[in-house]
Formats: sequence, structure tokens, C-alpha cells
Amino acid sequence: MGREVTDNGLILRILPLGIYQVNSYLLICKDTKEAVLVDPGEAAAEILKAGAGFSIKFILITHGHFDHVQALSQVKKTLKIPVAAHPLDQSRIPVPIDYPLAEGDNLSFGKLKGRVFHTPGHTPGSICLLVNKTLIAGDTLFPGGPGKTGSPDAFQQIVRGIEEKIYTLTDDTVVYPGHGQETTIGQSRKEYKVFCQKTHPKPVCGDVLWLSP
Ligand SMILES: [Zn+2]
Ligand SMILES: [Zn+2]
Repeated sequence: MGREVTDNGLILRILPLGIYQVNSYLLICKDTKEAVLVDPGEAAAEILKAGAGFSIKFILITHGHFDHVQALSQVKKTLKIPVAAHPLDQSRIPVPIDYPLAEGDNLSFGKLKGRVFHTPGHTPGSICLLVNKTLIAGDTLFPGGPGKTGSPDAFQQIVRGIEEKIYTLTDDTVVYPGHGQETTIGQSRKEYKVFCQKTHPKPVCGDVLWLSP
């Protein structure tokens, strides 16, 4: 079920599930079969089926929007594993956070290491996770633009995180968002340059596209 890609020792299983088509991800260490489950948004049974045969060490929540955590209680109850997320999104997450995440944290599973970026704006506790050249971006960055923001301040905040943290990654890093298809850092950075060259007479927020007029 879902689609599988590999990135060195990492197997990434992409599971677009439910009516919101949230991308749940399984990050699997090829050698040890240890894994991390990201955003069990919906369809607990399908997620559990996809994860069978792997030793899932913890569940990572990119942010606390309900469409990303609807299957969380069920999956946690079945697998009895800890939940990792940024504490600023705890109020939106239906179970207690066992591993509170912060900017720069390292997470390991099997022979792989992940690095956490705190990229607030879409929600205060939004995070991204980098493993090898795979960036799990949650709703922070999509092909064509950032995630939805509720105010010009939040937009400034999400852009700052993208510019100062995400765009420091190499062009060939692949960005896997919370919904829809992937993009690359190189492609995204190019689009963002166009956005920066335009003048924006009014403060922007909401669903912003780098290339929209
Ligand atoms: Zn969201
Ligand atoms: Zn979402």
C-alpha cells in the first residue's frame, strides 16, 4: 500500500490517507527495519497494516492540526510507543507528548539520524524532520509555497523559518509535505526568489504561492 522511495539507507513509505489525503509517512531503516511513523492522520487500520513487520520506535507529529492526528490515539494505544512533537502544539494533540522536540534535536532510529527544525507559522509548534536528503515538511512547505498562515505575522514567521533553516539544505533535498506531491529545495528556492523580487504592497498571509501575481 502507498508508494515507496529510497534515499541511501532510508526507505520512505508514503501513505496518503483519508478524506484530507494527509500524507502519513513511515521512515524505515533499511538495515535494521526500525522505523518512525509520521502523522497518523486517519485510517488507523491501514497505517497499522503498512507498519506491520517493522519495529516502529515512536510516532512523530509534524503539527497538531486535527487532520494530522485523528488516528493518533488509536495507533498509540495499539503500538504502545511514545509520541514526539513540539510542546507548543500540545493543546491540539489528543495524547500527551512523551518526547518534547526542540530546534536542532537529533532523533535516531536504526542506523539513521534525523534532525529537527522548528518552523512555526502554520502552527506555533510546527516542525520539519531531515533524514539524509529527505525532508518531512508537514504543512510548512509545499510545492509552490509555504503552508497556510492565519496572519501577516505568522506569514513572516513561516518565511523566516523556511529561509533561515530549510533553504540552508542542499538543492537535491526532497521535500515531502503533509498533503500532495513532493518538490525539491532547489525548485522551491527558485520559486521563492521570484516572490522576493516582486513588491507586496499589502502584508500577505493565508494560502500564499511564491509564483502568484
Ligand atoms: Zn496543518
Ligand atoms: Zn495538513
